[in-house]
Amino acid sequence: MSVLVVGTVAFDAIETPFGKTDKIVGGAATYICLAASFFTKKINLVSVVGEDFPEQAIQDLKNKGVNTKGLQIKKGEKTFFWSGKYHNNMNTRDTLETQLNVLEKFNPVVPEDFREAEFLMLGNLMPSIQKKVLDQMKKPPRLVILDTMNFWMDHFMEDLVMSLKNVDLLTINDEEARQLSEEYSLIKAAKKILKMGPKYLIIKKGEHGAFLFDKNQVFFAPALPLEDVFDPTGAGDSFAGGLVGYLSKTKDVSFENLKRAVVYGSVLASFCVERFGTEQLKKITQKKIDSRINTFVEMAGFNLLKN
Ligand code: AMP
Repeated sequence: MSVLVVGTVAFDAIETPFGKTDKIVGGAATYICLAASFFTKKINLVSVVGEDFPEQAIQDLKNKGVNTKGLQIKKGEKTFFWSGKYHNNMNTRDTLETQLNVLEKFNPVVPEDFREAEFLMLGNLMPSIQKKVLDQMKKPPRLVILDTMNFWMDHFMEDLVMSLKNVDLLTINDEEARQLSEEYSLIKAAKKILKMGPKYLIIKKGEHGAFLFDKNQVFFAPALPLEDVFDPTGAGDSFAGGLVGYLSKTKDVSFENLKRAVVYGSVLASFCVERFGTEQLKKITQKKIDSRINTFVEMAGFNLLKN
């Protein structure tokens, strides 16, 4: 089943307690596509970059089976740029700079043959652009997933709340859930957010795992404890990519299957954070994914019956 991915394709400059990078390739859509490509080869990308974006990075996506026909390359313009600095606990970060550049006037055009996608992954981007993509779909996708962040809540909360009415699954982190709902308790926040439109809600808690909610149920998946965490950038997007990739492969959007998808999303995120940028995501193998899934099952499962 095909997945349409919209989001930033970007340059990032990252500082963590373990090191610092100059401009490297990043962006929400880049991480989503790379992570999802382990599950499906039917990934279609809609995004925008400037003339300064390296051809090789686009080729890397193509090599993973991503169709980049919907990626606009703007002559004479600069790619979206984000820089961030992580605190010592690596769970929180400060955005140092966001240069919208090509994003400022981006008008997403969804190619005709992308408009019947079964899964629409609206990656982190200006809410009005996410909506423009949704409006171009020919028939309602089986599942519309939206990811966003505090930056858009700070500047475009009204647009975001409007978009949420047409979203099936929202993925945000705990701080963003609090900001969106104006509730401190995540349980109360989830109840409020589920009344804004989404049928499902995922609240990510970084190294402490993720919650999945619907109106009646809640599921919690821990994150894999890792020896080395170098750079959490893109963890949320790799999570979303793993999740949507798994759902499209298994063609099942029930709560039970969403639970499995959350675990696959967590596994993809666990690879992402072990190196800077997209480096590690490009090197994962099916064997490595299976091995981490097994660790997950062993770590989180328990038996109430004594032997
Ligand atoms: P994550 O760590 O999963 O939240 O995603 C980090 C990625 O999001 C980086 O590669 C950035 O390029 C991208 N990013 C940062 N700020 C924004 C923003 N305001 N809108 C869209 N993407 C962003």
